[in-house]
Amino acid sequence: MAALRPPRPDAAADEVARIAAAAPDWATLAAVARSCVACPELAAARRHVVVGDVPVSGRPLVAFVGEAPGATEDETGRPFVGKSGALLDQLLAEAGLDRAECAVLNVVKCRPPGNRTPKAPEVARCSGWLNRQIELLDPPAIVALGLSAAKWFLGPRTVLARAREHGAHPWNGRGLYVTYHPSAAIRFGPNGAPRAALAADLRQVAYLVGKRDRP
Ligand code: SF4
Repeated sequence: MAALRPPRPDAAADEVARIAAAAPDWATLAAVARSCVACPELAAARRHVVVGDVPVSGRPLVAFVGEAPGATEDETGRPFVGKSGALLDQLLAEAGLDRAECAVLNVVKCRPPGNRTPKAPEVARCSGWLNRQIELLDPPAIVALGLSAAKWFLGPRTVLARAREHGAHPWNGRGLYVTYHPSAAIRFGPNGAPRAALAADLRQVAYLVGKRDRP
């Protein structure tokens, strides 16, 4: 299949959305996304398009969505495998959730140089992939990890603490939950509030999907 070319920004977002929407299954979508060059700066600097991890069954219990790949993710081609991923794995296990039964995705699939925040046009272009990923995976619950992901689902005026305290947000027929990104939990330390909140939120999600008896 031909690689996506980088036309004008809006046209690029439209083109990604059109091609992603036509992907009939995860494998097709992943193969096409890996050749995407709709964001010229990111495409030139990346080593891998980090499409995401999905369970073998094809339908995850929960889809976790972060912001963008970091250096280790770019190097390996897999999401959440650096320090943030190690903490996420630890807290998932403590909560009773098996990462192998979950999807792990990002809003933007290519690493922004220097780990800068993705720019609005990059988010817009990559949205076609994420929208189609969620359609194909059909997860009963989604967890937005951090503010960038929360804004993608709930809009640019989203305040993380308020969105988190709100609990379940109805989103396209699914329950959407907002919590801290593991990198915030690392930044504030093992005794910091974000880590405790993230751990509690993952226990709550595990409870809601039937993986523990109480939150
Ligand atoms: S960030 Fe997304 S839209 Fe941009 S080049 Fe990578 S895969 Fe394509």
